[in-house]
Amino acid sequence: MARARDHELYQAALNVIAGGVNSPVRAFKAVGGEPVFVERGEGARFWSPDGREYIDYVQSWGAMILGHAHPRVIQAIQVAAAKGTSFGAPTEAETELASKICGAIPSIERVRLVNSGTEATMSAIRLARGFTKRDKVVKFAGCYHGHSDYLLVAAGSGGATFGIPDSAGVPRAFAEQTVVLPYNDLDAVGESFRLGGDDIAAVIVEPIAANMGVVPPREGFLELLRGLCTKHGALLIFDEVITGFRLCYGGAQSLLEIQPDLTCLGKIIGGGLPIGAYGGRAEVMKCLAPEGDVYQAGTLSGNPIATAAGLETLHVLEEENPYDTISQRAESLASGMARLVAEVGTAACVNRVGSLLTVFFGVDEVASYEQARSASGKLFSSFFAKMLELGVHLPPSPFEAWFVSAAHSEADIERTLEAVAASVKGLA
Ligand code: PMP
Repeated sequence: MARARDHELYQAALNVIAGGVNSPVRAFKAVGGEPVFVERGEGARFWSPDGREYIDYVQSWGAMILGHAHPRVIQAIQVAAAKGTSFGAPTEAETELASKICGAIPSIERVRLVNSGTEATMSAIRLARGFTKRDKVVKFAGCYHGHSDYLLVAAGSGGATFGIPDSAGVPRAFAEQTVVLPYNDLDAVGESFRLGGDDIAAVIVEPIAANMGVVPPREGFLELLRGLCTKHGALLIFDEVITGFRLCYGGAQSLLEIQPDLTCLGKIIGGGLPIGAYGGRAEVMKCLAPEGDVYQAGTLSGNPIATAAGLETLHVLEEENPYDTISQRAESLASGMARLVAEVGTAACVNRVGSLLTVFFGVDEVASYEQARSASGKLFSSFFAKMLELGVHLPPSPFEAWFVSAAHSEADIERTLEAVAASVKGLA
């Protein structure tokens, strides 16, 4: 067996870890086969315990924008760890990271650091409810905002991959507080606000959807959300857990020129360590305890090592401004892939925004969750398996974004395209 050690490790994991993985998207359920284990990573690559080398487009689901084990980030982690790993008392570095975030994203006047994207969105929702004194939340089908009860409804990639529309264990009464609308559907948004806009505490949205595969917002969609939220006194929450510091130094909101009331962050701001953050207008953020009566807390929040890794990542991004280069590399990959798939006569659509991209097989256009779901999982699975054999590690689901990092070189993209050329042959 080509991946004998991976197989052994997976069997061992299955005996002690629920489902063999600590997060469902790591399992290869959607594409068949068994996960690749990682022994070590460097830059765009990682190596498995079988000794195989992979060009990696998962990159910790977007957290590793500088690639694996960036020397400056590792150094910052080592220095921080040597001084103590957690205190439960404030440190100066937390204020430094918070200042960087507030400086880069003008809609964030005050921020709170937490430990994951899920915590960020869950807490932002509670804060919005506390601030508006309303209960209803609007989300969009196919957008994922972590796994808290209110948001695990029509939640995109994970659920779409496994065909679970909602999670068992979410009380109906909770889910009923969440209004789910189709992403990019301006009429549905207008109608929903017309019928009950004054009961809506918040609208939460991925400003560029990346959990149904990459789907950019239609012109006017986010503008409409901004206008209606303002008119009805609801808060607009941008979930920038993926897009924050990924498309530019700051949020997608600065590219799109729309200011949300609250923003959720994660991934990149922790440089590969567990982190999340949410922030917004001072007037709203002051409702949080200890100033206000909305409670949210965390033993490890603002953890010194995560803070140091995040700070150093932001320093490197600010100094090197790699965004144009990463985008160009992603564009070469996206256009090369579209050409190679067209050459073999298979219908496909490659969506790309900056360094995020997704190939949808068997469809010509994807601008909505329905269109994303109509893409062929079967074609993706055989493509995925061949790419893996050829040393390219893609997200193991047709509904995920691929993440190009600053460490992916032109040569890596060329090698990837060679693998694509070989993998699309015979796709029918
Ligand atoms: N929001 C978005 C947009 C995400 O993509 C994710 C995770 N992929 C989350 C929230 C949840 O973040 P975490 O996995 O850190 O809890």
